[in-house]
Amino acid sequence: MSDQTKRTNQHISTRMVQANGVIDPQTGGVVPPIQSATTFARNTDYSLISDKHLYSRDDSDLLRLGEEILAKAEHAEAGLLFPSGMAAIAAIMRTVPNRGTIIVQSQIYWGTTKWVRYFCARREIALHEIDCSDLDVLSKAIEAEKPDLVFIETPSNPWLRITDIESAASMSHAAGAKLVVDSTAASPVLSNPLTLGADIVMHSATKSINGHSDVLAGFLATADAQSDIWQSISMDRHDAGAVLGSFEAWLLIRGMRTLPLRMERMCANAMSVAAFLDNHSKVETVLYPGITSHPGHELATKQMNGGYGSLLSFLVKGDAKTALEVCSKLEIFKRATSLGGVESLVEHRHSVEGNATGVPENLIRLSVGIEHIDDLVGDLSEALR
Ligand code: PLP
Repeated sequence: MSDQTKRTNQHISTRMVQANGVIDPQTGGVVPPIQSATTFARNTDYSLISDKHLYSRDDSDLLRLGEEILAKAEHAEAGLLFPSGMAAIAAIMRTVPNRGTIIVQSQIYWGTTKWVRYFCARREIALHEIDCSDLDVLSKAIEAEKPDLVFIETPSNPWLRITDIESAASMSHAAGAKLVVDSTAASPVLSNPLTLGADIVMHSATKSINGHSDVLAGFLATADAQSDIWQSISMDRHDAGAVLGSFEAWLLIRGMRTLPLRMERMCANAMSVAAFLDNHSKVETVLYPGITSHPGHELATKQMNGGYGSLLSFLVKGDAKTALEVCSKLEIFKRATSLGGVESLVEHRHSVEGNATGVPENLIRLSVGIEHIDDLVGDLSEALR
């Protein structure tokens, strides 16, 4: 498959829609074909028929294409796709030596926190969970702990905290640490952490990159493909076999072609939902960086590319029972985990996390989709009545 586009400075929306300008060289098809073979025959002299096709655990056409499209979108030198976001996070964490030190942002995606706690205990790695969105706290922790790795998530899930990537990168680098940014909630459309100094950007591509809640995938990208950390991740992915299959890669590429368009609509919808909730008498607080009263609003405006994402939380006045009642009355917002899909979802995170991270009992998390805004606001209005 070849990129026949000579114009190099295209917008991300053009690149994504055109899947980097790919054309199937066999047929001229404007959609890439699925190569389903896991193994490839050799010639009689034992040379490969095609030097890019040996065994599909090493690599495959669609894996490469998906990685190239996303790497370009992140202004990265290289990118790697994994079978899930957690597989990508695990690949990063495995680069930290036994008895090393990791700083991880507190109150982020619960699956990350849970797995990292287990992993660090097993490998005798010192784990410091701190609020990285507070730069004083972050700088003191980096100075005191001299970590190997700093892992932040911005905007964070489900608190929507915004962390200053540029400052976090310079603080980390001054102490010899690598900075990894989980940018899932922003997507490559709204934020490009590598351009702000991060060493690695991570995405659960299961979310908005795919956008249709039908593929699990993870993605990592770097600005320095020769760095030790990237070489180690890339060797581990290759040899330990955490690759995405061709069918999933094909679906992912199909999904990401509309990512910029979907993000535009999701951001606009989320902004209107946030404004509606912000003025509602039964709502205590809205956590969404798009509203001016949010503590991270100014920073998000500066470091995000003209939108605040589709993830939003709010605290309803009342307790867990009140919050669960609101969730139960919603009809358009489906009661399901995950985020970034075309369909709107609602989740009561306290029912999932319990008291492990301090998520309030009255917090309701929304993933705002691309439905008509009147229906979304109408659904919330009925549920809060
Ligand atoms: N990071 C964030 C911010 C997430 O929300 C999630 C999943 O919800 C993950 C990582 C893990 O991704 P996956 O479910 O693809 O393993």
